[in-house]
Amino acid sequence: MNSNAHDCCDCAGKMREGKHDFMARVENEIVVIKDVPALICDTCDEVEYTLEVSREIDVIMKEFFAGRLLAKPLAAGEITFKPQRADSTG
Ligand SMILES: [Zn+2]
Repeated sequence: MNSNAHDCCDCAGKMREGKHDFMARVENEIVVIKDVPALICDTCDEVEYTLEVSREIDVIMKEFFAGRLLAKPLAAGEITFKPQRADSTG
């Protein structure tokens, strides 16, 4: 029996089990943990982790920043929020 499925707390959608890429930024480093088991709302994409998974994420982050985990380098771009006006052809 699977009792993990429940309603989303943000909308009327259903939380379903799936995989999510967890992303965190610490100063100038961005870490992505791929394929984290999570509950994802089928309507608004709200993501929820179980307590167990949150603890694992904490451990993985600590291990990574202690230099004990090898990460695959990813390209990252940083953009400051600024409305992109359609008529700003200048
Ligand atoms: Zn939702």
